[in-house]
Amino acid sequence: MRIILFGPPGAGKGTQARLLEEREGYTQISTGDIIRSAMKNETPVGKEAKAYVEKGELVPDSVVRKLAEGAIADEGYDDFVLDGYPRTTQQAEWLTEFGAAHDAPIDVVISLEVPDDVIVDRLSKRRVHTKTGDTYHLEHNPPPDDVDPAHIIQRDDDKPATVRNRLAVYREETAPLEAYYEARGTLVTVDGVGGIEDIYDRITAALEAA
Ligand code: ADP
Ligand code: ADP
Repeated sequence: MRIILFGPPGAGKGTQARLLEEREGYTQISTGDIIRSAMKNETPVGKEAKAYVEKGELVPDSVVRKLAEGAIADEGYDDFVLDGYPRTTQQAEWLTEFGAAHDAPIDVVISLEVPDDVIVDRLSKRRVHTKTGDTYHLEHNPPPDDVDPAHIIQRDDDKPATVRNRLAVYREETAPLEAYYEARGTLVTVDGVGGIEDIYDRITAALEAA
């Protein structure tokens, strides 16, 4: 199955995509993770992306498109969960064309619905492991005791000023994609508030029904 996990920054896309990878064998394709790794390794893409990511802006469509399509091709065009792609109408249209060209259309778009106050709480208390990329939340999903605290950091773009911009960008550029996928008949909305396991159960139920 080809799945998109859709929703605002902090909705829980990465958390749920990882669970689907671990438990159901899907491959998580996170353009955010790919971009952060490129920035860390100072590749040409990483150098180009840096200024955008730091300001909470979107990286140009043409750059992200190559990353996403490359990752989908590497996975053999199936059994993946896109996490954080597409984020603009242009990206969505390209993805539809790409799917048609490879006989690999998106089967279902799961939209995680989370109100703004919950998002701000989740992003301000999100912490990540510098080596594994594992994501934690200071209260709801704290790092286990055997994890070295020296490796647990806050993402620079999770600081309040950048978060405000990311949410504005989401509303302006990304939120309209819900209507795009609704019109294509692939959108399923899932309540994203609740425990991580409860939301996982809602998502797997939605995937079974799709
Ligand atoms: P979050 O987990 O908060 O939704 P991501 O890790 O997905 O954030 O993305 C981090 C940053 O990487 C974004 O703010 C943006 O700068 C860049 N990025 C990731 N995916 C895309 C995309 N599809 N299009 C443009 N920029 C992207
Ligand atoms: P996204 O990939 O959509 O930006 P993440 O999966 O990184 O979102 O989650 C954002 C933050 O919220 C992280 O700190 C994560 O541990 C936490 N989180 C994820 N799902 C839940 C949940 N159901 N309840 C509480 N906190 C959650």
